[in-house]
Amino acid sequence: MFLDMIGTMLISLLKIRNTFQKEQYNASMSSYSALSEIYLCMHLIDIKTGKYEQIKNVKHVEKECEELDQENFSKRVYTTMKYFCTEMYLSSVLEFVDLSTLDRRLMETNTIVHEFIGTVSGWCRERFIKVDSDEKGRLWHVLYCVEVIDEQKRREKKLLYLSETDSMTGINNRGSGERKITEFLEKKKGGLFCLLDCDKFKKINDTYGHAVGDTVLIKLAAVLQRACRENDIVMRLGGDEFAMYLPGMPDKAQAESFFKRLFTQIDKISISEMQGEKINVSLGASLYSDKDRATFDTLYHEADAAMYESKKIVGNHAIIYSDLPQARQTPL
Ligand code: GH3
Ligand code: MG
Repeated sequence: MFLDMIGTMLISLLKIRNTFQKEQYNASMSSYSALSEIYLCMHLIDIKTGKYEQIKNVKHVEKECEELDQENFSKRVYTTMKYFCTEMYLSSVLEFVDLSTLDRRLMETNTIVHEFIGTVSGWCRERFIKVDSDEKGRLWHVLYCVEVIDEQKRREKKLLYLSETDSMTGINNRGSGERKITEFLEKKKGGLFCLLDCDKFKKINDTYGHAVGDTVLIKLAAVLQRACRENDIVMRLGGDEFAMYLPGMPDKAQAESFFKRLFTQIDKISISEMQGEKINVSLGASLYSDKDRATFDTLYHEADAAMYESKKIVGNHAIIYSDLPQARQTPL
């Protein structure tokens, strides 16, 4: 009788423990399910066995993967991503979902992310979230989720564009232009740096009004941009001052033929309110060879000195710093 009593008590305790564990499991699953609202899909993975439980998935993914091995996360994600990830990102996505390296990658953080472009949803972000570790401290369960971030990416792109662009002319503003030119200089990519300033621009504003002055700046910026290739940098420094950097043009003869082409285009600018009056610019330039070492400031000061001389000559005119008497005798 005594043994019967002990047996019944043990069975009751086991039942209580099982119920408690089941309740705990159900509570976890229901909180994951609530969390999965913001995700496209969510899986709970057992790192040791590679098995997973699907908390959420999108219908079209489920349909495509109906015949797949439902047991193993790695196999499943590998086949799924072949359908739903663009080729360009496939290898980085597969590297990210590699469970064998996850313990190390989640060592000092609770979550890791990776972004890719999906074939159906556009920009996506996949994420691993640490759930628990075993008694030896080894990672045991993780959540794997994918969310769509296309809208966020579009907003980021727009903000980046706005922060880099001169709002009136649509070309690079001072900050972004200087940063892009500095990148070329750091890579020792030689080229031609030009500084341009409109002649008698205050008079244009005073005679025809500020709005016409604005049109002059917009048309001038468009001509500068058109005269350049895709890699070249065109920027508005402020007011009626512009700068350009043409990488790969460290040659004086080429520079002079570029000035000629540019001035022909500037000469064609016509603004009806100005009744045929031409727009003139003064240009100062500095040539930077692949062997030189220069900063944006050095090129700016050289081009500025050349432009100061160029201002003294009426009409569109360009002077290269190395042609000035005070020009450097030694390389930059
Ligand atoms: P210079 O031939 O020596 O270059 O003389 P300038 O009259 O062109 O004088 P400067 O380049 O020093 O002055 C530029 C003027 O451009 C000063 C300012 O009133 C005007 N300005 C600056 N920003 C804008 C703008 O966004 N729109 C318009 N319309 N005018 C501007
Ligand atoms: Mg001016």
